[in-house]
Amino acid sequence: MMITPNWPAPENIHALTLTKDDSIADLPRNVDLRLLQQVHENKIIEFPTPEIELKADGAYTHQANIACTIKTADCLAILICSHDGQEVAALHGGWRGLAQGIIAQGVKKFQAPAQELIAWLSPAICPQHYEVDQQVFNAFSGLEHCFHENRPGHWLCDLYAIARMQLQQAGIERVFGETHCTFEYEEELYSYRRDPTDPGRLLHVIWRR
Ligand SMILES: [Zn+2]
Repeated sequence: MMITPNWPAPENIHALTLTKDDSIADLPRNVDLRLLQQVHENKIIEFPTPEIELKADGAYTHQANIACTIKTADCLAILICSHDGQEVAALHGGWRGLAQGIIAQGVKKFQAPAQELIAWLSPAICPQHYEVDQQVFNAFSGLEHCFHENRPGHWLCDLYAIARMQLQQAGIERVFGETHCTFEYEEELYSYRRDPTDPGRLLHVIWRR
């Protein structure tokens, strides 16, 4: 069951999430696709790149038929495109990347002003199923309202709320998104918290023609 974002992207923008039933082989052959080695930091790679080792948590391109992709199992993927359909990016929104400002880094790559970008938030773990400790809470100074204290030293963390706040701070006003919790939709979605031994990942892909 491929998920396609419900967002007002231009007609030449293709975006989708591959779930448990889908295969990378289902994607069009003419789209160049290179997977990142995600390391929970904030580096963004611009495609095409001569680099062999793609240690990064975001990809950006303004060229046609080059895919930007992010793999997740509970983390958020953030897909962004410009209103003119010329630029796309995919960002890995785990707590570490978000705390290190990966959204601001990603928005900076665009030639288009932030007001002309739209963003889509992928399925991710919902706050009810995402309890975090003091280290995570402390990493989001000023965003305490995105956490709900659950028991002493532990908080329920709303990754969606954090991403929406940071997108707004970066100047993106139009944000769309999924509400499917990865932890809850066992049949379709991968969840690290539910099954840490499952190496499967959702693949979020965006490119332009
Ligand atoms: Zn949930």
